[in-house]
Amino acid sequence: MESAVNQALKSIPNVHDCITALIDSKTLNDVPLRRLKHCIRLYLKEVRQSILAGHIAPSTLFDRQTWLEQLIAFVRQYHRPRFTRVINGTGIIVHTNLGRSLLPTLAIECLTVAGQNYSNLEFNLDTGKRGSRYDHVDDLLCELTGAEAALVVNNNAAAVLIALETLAKNKEVIVSRGQLVEIGGSFRIPDIMDRSGARLVEVGTTNRTHLHDYQSALSSETALLLRVHCSNYRIIGFTKEVPETELVRFGKEHSIPVMEDLGSGCLIDLSKFGLAKEPTVQEVVASGMDIVTFSGDKLLGGPQAGIIVGKRRYIEQIKKNPLNRALRIDKFTLACLESVLRLYLDETQALQKIPTLYMIAAPEETVKLRASHFFHRAQEGIGDHCIFALVRVYSQVGGGAMPGENLTSWAVSVNPRVLKISRLEALLRRATVPVIGRVEGNRLLLDMRTIADEELDLLYETLKSVFSL
Ligand SMILES: *Cc1c(COP(=O)(O)O)cnc(C)c1O
Repeated sequence: MESAVNQALKSIPNVHDCITALIDSKTLNDVPLRRLKHCIRLYLKEVRQSILAGHIAPSTLFDRQTWLEQLIAFVRQYHRPRFTRVINGTGIIVHTNLGRSLLPTLAIECLTVAGQNYSNLEFNLDTGKRGSRYDHVDDLLCELTGAEAALVVNNNAAAVLIALETLAKNKEVIVSRGQLVEIGGSFRIPDIMDRSGARLVEVGTTNRTHLHDYQSALSSETALLLRVHCSNYRIIGFTKEVPETELVRFGKEHSIPVMEDLGSGCLIDLSKFGLAKEPTVQEVVASGMDIVTFSGDKLLGGPQAGIIVGKRRYIEQIKKNPLNRALRIDKFTLACLESVLRLYLDETQALQKIPTLYMIAAPEETVKLRASHFFHRAQEGIGDHCIFALVRVYSQVGGGAMPGENLTSWAVSVNPRVLKISRLEALLRRATVPVIGRVEGNRLLLDMRTIADEELDLLYETLKSVFSL
């Protein structure tokens, strides 16, 4: 007698049957044949494995309608673009996992132009000769930061790597123990140092480092003093770090360059929005720092990039490093970065047009109004399925910037009447436009600081669709 498992396995259709059925059904006309075949193989493999693993009761025989429905759903799901927009209801403005900074409309226009047309990327229109891609933003960066020279690479990790490799390979770099950071995505100062070929010399203690600690670590091998901004953590209590100006003076006395990895690197003082005072790039440059590195897509609110500004002699050295070619930015980054930096020429413009900045600067009242609007609409239309509430919450800047700093904000909390909260969270996460919120107990919080007015319709429809499944 044939086993039930074998019977079930035999009832699975073959690839040919599946293709014919899919083509006949005409529901997947937009999916190329090779993709259909690929999906069919994956689907059949999954079914076979499920039967063998006992996940599908062997008594389940596959009739045509059952497997065709499943297969169509499988193909639809599989064929969706993998990279997709999401609605960020986490309240974390520079959310590294959700794409960090959103770009200003102006920057998007520049991206389109750069993509659809030839450009003077490396062509000097004055001389008619080959030009440098870096010329387009160097002057702007110097004008905005007060630095002598600038260079842009792929990201800030690359900026730190190339600066260390250029200035301190096979030599020693002194860093305070309180600044040996690890940030998300496995960027760790000791590891990047190791990769650059520079030797890390740790000084001081976790909470306190004095100038005399640097003094005692100084040797003929010392090539650089590195200061790293405590981006994503804070040491509080009995603490001390050597301020920029003192370290710069000390470096000068010993003819050793001083570099600061600022991480976020902000050009506008955000303390006026209730956040802690962090040194701006201009202030750090003015302290006399020889090299300053920061990200393009954290607080700056531009595209992913690593910006290096500082003294011309060092920047020139870094520019000549062959690594620079490997770490160079593309025309899209350049187009985008230039348009974002131009906005900074007028602080009011920057605050209005750069999404990262206006989300930080948005007054609590504005966010509350948006939340209240959505709350009423949701209660009216989806109230049968959920209990909604308007709640005061805290947003975060994110991106490893300003840890522990909170911005008062407003969220709509969603408490499903029947669905489990984990199920609601998963359904929203898998929606056509996924919605990512913050689960707190048995409710999902949607912080309205990081949701735009233009997204509210979509958010509403998505939430509603979850309950009509
Ligand atoms: C974020 C950060 C980096 C890495 O910058 P990316 O642009 O993500 O490569 C390096 N150092 C510090 C201190 C940071 O905060």
